[in-house]
Amino acid sequence: MDKVCAIFGGSRGIGRAVAQLMAQKGYRLAIIARNLEVAKAAASDLGGSHLAFSCDVTKEQDVQNTFEEMEKNLGPVSFLVNAAGINRDSLLIRTKTEDMLSQLHTNLLGSMLTCKAAMRAMIQQQRGSIVNIGSIVGLKGNAGQSVYSASKGGLVGFSRALAKEVAGKKIKVNVVAPGFIHTDMTKDLKEEHLKKTIPLGRFGEPIDVAHAVVFLLESPYVTGHVLVVDGGLQLRM
Ligand code: NDP
Repeated sequence: MDKVCAIFGGSRGIGRAVAQLMAQKGYRLAIIARNLEVAKAAASDLGGSHLAFSCDVTKEQDVQNTFEEMEKNLGPVSFLVNAAGINRDSLLIRTKTEDMLSQLHTNLLGSMLTCKAAMRAMIQQQRGSIVNIGSIVGLKGNAGQSVYSASKGGLVGFSRALAKEVAGKKIKVNVVAPGFIHTDMTKDLKEEHLKKTIPLGRFGEPIDVAHAVVFLLESPYVTGHVLVVDGGLQLRM
């Protein structure tokens, strides 16, 4: 049976690196993002018979339709990675409500909706493995990122509770919490200054996170875990 994995946010950054690693390991992949052209290009770069889908994770109907399309074209999804995410960094007093909602909806509600949509097939198969991408700031907090931190902290609570709910169905739910990783999301940060705060002395690369994601996806006896991938940053936070 094909090992089918849906990667939300698989068109760029961390999700894309996860897709590259999983393609090498023989999974059939659904690369999902809002921008279909970018998702298609990422899927085609992988070679093989991977497919791209356009979906906005903040919209429940969109998520449900995407799962129906994936199942029709690839078969039941038994592996799910939630790497779709956005940040709108600013001090709380300057943060507009619409920016609060867009971060909560994309980073937290979005993962809830994709996990919910994935459940039926996973329960039927009596197997499933989910990795949600959190953040070290969801565990430690960071000034200028209170709402983003809340969305990622919420994701930990959600993932641990869901892990308890579905363990009896042989479904695992874990979180990877990265530190600073070179992607579009961090391209405007002051890297020279920030990397002095990282014990390993550098920003991470998307592939550094991808290895942790794939480890958790494939670990048969790990669930409800939060794996920090941050070059030691948390030691100083
Ligand atoms: P990128 O900005 O490089 O990629 C984000 C991905 O998410 C893209 O594929 C984007 O595609 C997709 N996406 C964004 N919004 C939506 C949406 N509403 N619906 C569907 N897809 C969406 O980010 P990263 O790779 O850096 O981040 C990946 C995850 O890792 C995020 O959850 C982020 O919060 C987290 N993270 C990143 C860190 C870093 O240092 N980079 C550190 C800690 C955590 P499109 O725009 O086409 O929809």
